Order: sequence, then structure tokens, then C-alpha cells
Amino acid sequence: MRVVRTRAELRDALASVPHPIGLVPTMGWLHDGHRALIQRSRADNQTSVVTIFVNPRQFNEASDYTQYPRNEAADLAICETEGVDIVFAPPVEEVYPPGFDTKVVVGAVAQPLEGAARPGHFEGVATVVAILFSLVGAEHAYFGQKDAQQVMVIRQMARDLAIGTEVIACPTVREPDGLALSSRNVHLTPEERAAAPILRRALIAARSQWEAGKRSGDALRGAMRSTLESEPLARIDYVSVADGATLQELEFVNGPALLSLAVRFGSTRLIDNEPLG
Ligand code: AMP
Repeated sequence: MRVVRTRAELRDALASVPHPIGLVPTMGWLHDGHRALIQRSRADNQTSVVTIFVNPRQFNEASDYTQYPRNEAADLAICETEGVDIVFAPPVEEVYPPGFDTKVVVGAVAQPLEGAARPGHFEGVATVVAILFSLVGAEHAYFGQKDAQQVMVIRQMARDLAIGTEVIACPTVREPDGLALSSRNVHLTPEERAAAPILRRALIAARSQWEAGKRSGDALRGAMRSTLESEPLARIDYVSVADGATLQELEFVNGPALLSLAVRFGSTRLIDNEPLG
């Protein structure tokens, strides 16, 4: 496994590797969700590249960026175990060199939900992923369904900018109690951690209503909201029943849709989602 830190080293490392190349962009603090993406990349490709970069431009809260967990030694050990070929772990100035002055702004699909709750977040995501796609030239890139809107934003960006990297979404990996794995889970107190599976229960409550034939967006949003409100530690940021293609809120669910929610426990903000249909 080669660990490279500069654009030039990355270019050298990639020069002679066999294709197809699979890319797994991460912010580190790797867990089994990231491992699943790496394993899928290894299964589909001749060469797998993992990037580890806590991207300052996608954090809309400075404290979230400074407190984001980091442990490069542990991340590299996981990459080695998983058979990664190249790890790109650059410093900030290697991704955004002096004079860097471009933003990638994706349109409608980046506006609601996380886009509304975290101003500037998807600009930061689309910009860094465009740089990584351009640097690596991978045939395939792997992202988690846990960040469902992120997958849609990146697909839109890659299509519009004619970047020939295919975006592949992989299922959300969960703890046995249903909590989606997330690097941010490390910030939860034991009490908050015990309460956090309420996100999954809220999604399942709404899905059950949908399976029973309920099609009203308000009823499904209400099912999520009332489940979350039963947990005193949970503070709702949003609950959503949105069109699966546009992410616009739905009055009635008549086709593919996405249930999603964002909830705070103390200073930790968690998101999760469940596709319908
Ligand atoms: P992050 O390091 O949190 O930016 O995540 C890097 C990639 O891993 C993104 O594509 C995430 O959607 C994905 N990911 C994070 N958590 C999970 C999970 N629990 N299951 C599957 N993929 C995940």
C-alpha cells in the first residue's frame, strides 16, 4: 500500500496501476461503513484508492471541523487490512493551494434538507469531490446511502461536468441496534448513544405506515416526529418525506420517495434515511 500526500505523488502512484480504478473518498475515522465501501471497490476494480481528507470547506460550523475525530494511524491500518492500493491523505494546502478560487455549486437537488440546514455544505462537498475525481481519474467511486442527498448531489455534479467517474451508492451499515455507523457517533455520551437508535425507529415507524397503505406526507412525517418526540434527549432538526428524484417535500407518496431526518443529541447532529419504493 502506498500512502501519498501531494498531487504530484498521487499522479506518480497512479501512472502504472491497472484499471479499472475504484475511489473511496472519506474524512477518516474509518469504521465498518467505510470498510464496506472499500470491499465493494476491491471486488469491482483492479486498483482501489482511498482518500482521507477532513475537508474544511464542507463544515458550516467551525467547532464541528476542529472537533471532527482524526486518527490517521488507525485509518491506515484499516486500509492496509482491507487491501487498499493507494491512500491519498493530503494536507489542506495540497487540495486547496494558494490562489485556489473555484466553487462547484450544484442546483436544485442540493437546496433542501442538508443543503438548507447546513449552508455551504454541498458546495464544499461538490468542490472537493470534483477535485478528487479529477486527480484520480477513477472509473468508479463509492459512496454510502447513509448520505443519500450527497450521492444525488455528486451524481448531478459528475454528470454536468462530464466527469467519467461512475458514482455507486452502497447500503448503510448499522450497529446491531439500528444506529447508522458514523464518525460523529464517538461524540455521543453513553446516555445519548443509548437514545440514538430512535432515528432508525422513527424511520421504521413511517415505513410501517407506508407499508400499511398510508400515502399522506403529513401522516408519515407525523409518525417520524412523534416517535422522535418520545425520546427526551432527541432534538429534531427536520423530518422529511421527499420525492426520490428531486427531494421536494411530498403531499402524497405516489412513487419512489425518501424518508429522511436530522436530529441533535447535545452538540452531536445525526442523520439517517430510508428509501420507499
Ligand atoms: P465520511 O468519512 O463520513 O465523509 O464518509 C465517507 C463515505 O462513507 C461517504 O460516502 C459516506 O456516505 C460513507 N458512509 C459513512 N457512514 C456510512 C455507513 N454507516 N454505511 C455506509 N456508508 C457510510
